[in-house]
Amino acid sequence: MDIIFLDIDGVLTDQWSDVNQLSPRCLSILADILRKTGAKIVISSTWRIGGIGPGSDWQKAIQLWVADSQDADVILGAVVGATPDIDAPEVTRGKEINWWISDNPGVNRFVILDDEDDMDPHLDHLVQIDANKGLTDTDAMIILKQLRD
Ligand SMILES: [Mg+2]
Repeated sequence: MDIIFLDIDGVLTDQWSDVNQLSPRCLSILADILRKTGAKIVISSTWRIGGIGPGSDWQKAIQLWVADSQDADVILGAVVGATPDIDAPEVTRGKEINWWISDNPGVNRFVILDDEDDMDPHLDHLVQIDANKGLTDTDAMIILKQLRD
């Protein structure tokens, strides 16, 4: 199973996005990657902890914010989980991702999409997104290459 660890703010949003609104362009690029690779999504965004919008948990939140997209089915159908939230100062997002991988045997290739870089020990899997632009076609080419090699 190939996995995309997905941050949301700064990845599926860009500088023109309103609060709690995802970019249709970024969602479309993500859906295209999913169609081409068959990769699954694990949510690593702080959205997974809940507390945004009317949804009390990340599944409801994601459904709500992706619902308007024409690619909603492709994206929601690919989500298989979320990384654990480990609230300790020394725990990076990369370590939370590492926990998920340890708990879920069968991960083959994986990429981390995030506008932050606290991904130790998996920095080499990070495709760092420019939060002003959100996910771009150029990022998609890098992601496709990583998921195919
Ligand atoms: Mg972010």
